Amino acid sequence: MVGMKEGTAKRKCAVCGKETEFEICAECYLERYSIYEFHPYIELKLCPKCGKAYSAGWKERDEALFETISKNFSHDPEFHISSFEVEERNENSGIILIEGEFRGERISYTLPFELRQKFETCERCSRIAGGYFESIIQLRAENRDIEREEIERAKRLIDEAIEKSNHSLAFISKIVERREGVDYYIGDRNLAKKVARRIEEELGGKLTESKKLSGRKDGRDIYRITYSIRFKEYRDGDVVKDGSKILLVTNAVKGKGVDPSGKSYRLKHPKLIAKREELERTFIVNLDKSVVEVLNPRSQEVVQVERKADYNIGDSVLYFEDKGKPFIFPELEK
Ligand SMILES: [Zn+2]
Ligand SMILES: [Zn+2]
Repeated sequence: MVGMKEGTAKRKCAVCGKETEFEICAECYLERYSIYEFHPYIELKLCPKCGKAYSAGWKERDEALFETISKNFSHDPEFHISSFEVEERNENSGIILIEGEFRGERISYTLPFELRQKFETCERCSRIAGGYFESIIQLRAENRDIEREEIERAKRLIDEAIEKSNHSLAFISKIVERREGVDYYIGDRNLAKKVARRIEEELGGKLTESKKLSGRKDGRDIYRITYSIRFKEYRDGDVVKDGSKILLVTNAVKGKGVDPSGKSYRLKHPKLIAKREELERTFIVNLDKSVVEVLNPRSQEVVQVERKADYNIGDSVLYFEDKGKPFIFPELEK
């Protein structure tokens, strides 16, 4: 039988006598039998809040509609479908366009359907509306207010994680801004854990975890987990005292700073002594081998500072005083 499909031998159609590979030719078969079945009454559950529709789970409306219509359509195994398209005409009707092949004949059908859409809030939207949460992500800062930029960056990381997840509990059900920081109520605990770690990695700080009994389900205790991220007190551009060294923080997340000579150090036990807002820009008016003269930005008086780096007259530097003693740092490159 090599190279020969079943039924390829020529014979005569039992009905019309035309030459065919089959007992009954396509034309005669189609006159007598239907090769498909379609129930043209389509019901679709639609969420009024997010616009998703239901078909074995909540999904994009077009996908759910296509699946529902496909389920209402069945066909003869000899009908080989090459194209199946759904076209909506208006809110409650549409057509399906089918192309294929049956017993060597190209066939196409245009079949109308009626669509009944029923509004029903999906599981995810009703949980969001009900304030459901398994976890809280808390953003805090050590001895200072949390900054707008930190909130925005953390929120972006949460949003990205939610967007990437296809878990139905991947949502924020509530955001509470407190004096001490911001709380995000997160539907899915695993997502909260993952994103809390991500925030810690990207923004620096210390992550702690605490859990609280929230109830029982199927005989098991249910806990709500709070992930608290406490950002470091010092930020890029702040000045810290670390042992005997005065350092300008160059990377708060990685714990790095430079001394007035520009030499890099890893921060060990840094204590904040000046915020970046307190540092002022000034410039060098004169210098010799051991001393540089700068203008005190407040008084505009010339101040002498020990020369620790390779400066030129006119160079811009960052100036601050610790207990009346002036310090200058080479300006950080952004
Ligand atoms: Zn025939
Ligand atoms: Zn919804």
